[in-house]
Amino acid sequence: MIYKQFKDLQLSSLGLGCMRLPQLPENGGIDEAMTAQMVEYCMKQGVNYFDTAYVYHGGKSEVVMGQILSRYDRKSFYLADKFPGFDPTFFTKVPEIFEEQLGRCQVDYFDFYLCHNVCERNIDSYMDREIGIIPYFLEQKAAGRIKHLGFSTHAELPALERFLEAYGEHMEFCQIQLNYLDWTWQKAEEKVALLRKYGIPVWVMEPLRGGKLAVLTERDKALLEEVCGKEEAPVSCAFRFLRNIPEVTMILSGMSDMDQLMENVATFSQEQIMEPEQFDAMAQLGKKMIEAVPCTACRYCTDYCPMSLDIPKLMRLYNEHRFTGSTYALNSLPEEKKPHNCLGCRQCEGFCPQNIPISEKMKELSKI
Ligand code: SF4
Ligand code: SF4
Repeated sequence: MIYKQFKDLQLSSLGLGCMRLPQLPENGGIDEAMTAQMVEYCMKQGVNYFDTAYVYHGGKSEVVMGQILSRYDRKSFYLADKFPGFDPTFFTKVPEIFEEQLGRCQVDYFDFYLCHNVCERNIDSYMDREIGIIPYFLEQKAAGRIKHLGFSTHAELPALERFLEAYGEHMEFCQIQLNYLDWTWQKAEEKVALLRKYGIPVWVMEPLRGGKLAVLTERDKALLEEVCGKEEAPVSCAFRFLRNIPEVTMILSGMSDMDQLMENVATFSQEQIMEPEQFDAMAQLGKKMIEAVPCTACRYCTDYCPMSLDIPKLMRLYNEHRFTGSTYALNSLPEEKKPHNCLGCRQCEGFCPQNIPISEKMKELSKI
């Protein structure tokens, strides 16, 4: 395993993102036995960073990871958790949620703690002096219950800059969506440059864009092979791109099975150099490959749909239709799950970190 220095810590450059843990086919619950095997493999192979959040798997990610990690020496791993500030209702109960998280995870402290998705919709609450959320987290840090404080964000540059101006001196790391598509699509290159100005290292989320960069269409695979050659797997190319960005310290991958984990560990066990020309060519490639709807299937939106539509599935079918012209899968949906049930209420859109105009896409899908 390749390690990165962060202050006095040696962090594995690959971290296990715990938002897509293996699931049981019968009920969709977390497959705890498989997750425990994956954690054991991580520990043996030197992966020492685990990233969970209050809402992952409906709160069960914290519980399951807490149970599994409690079997290991507390000093043998680094646990990251996040305050769910992307939902404004949670701002009224900051201390309760923080205590609940420590309890769920069975720990006395978090090695890393993040404000989850600071963005245009919630930045005023994060900066509200009466709520005092950042001072509260700084108090917890002073008490040793948070070792390192940071934030994740899908914000546009002006909001990111506003947050950094206010709290940059207290933020020790920042987690952004970064991959060779988002280098330009979500202006990740400019975000990295801004964070560099503040001396804040980058944690990467969605390095494979919800798995899309692992399973490319034939057209995109051919495009990638022109840049990286036929021998290297798409996943390895995607990680190599990221590992050649000096500010990148941690790359989180939401792995869902042992094969993905083993492949990624092998990739992160060797140095991977990318020449500047190849790096630039991959960034250009991202522009050609971008899909119609950049849904990462994070499912942040689904709980807020009054019609219980499976929004990420419908976004996937939208993209599929665009590339293949097929309507088979759409027509096969149960009547109550079809896009014409969308009320256009837009409740989902405020929770989408990709800023997808979901209600408009539902209208287009209905016509299709
Ligand atoms: S706009 Fe449509 S998909 Fe979004 S929450 Fe409302 S009904 Fe659901
Ligand atoms: S539509 Fe947005 S919030 Fe919903 S799953 Fe896709 S990316 Fe996530």
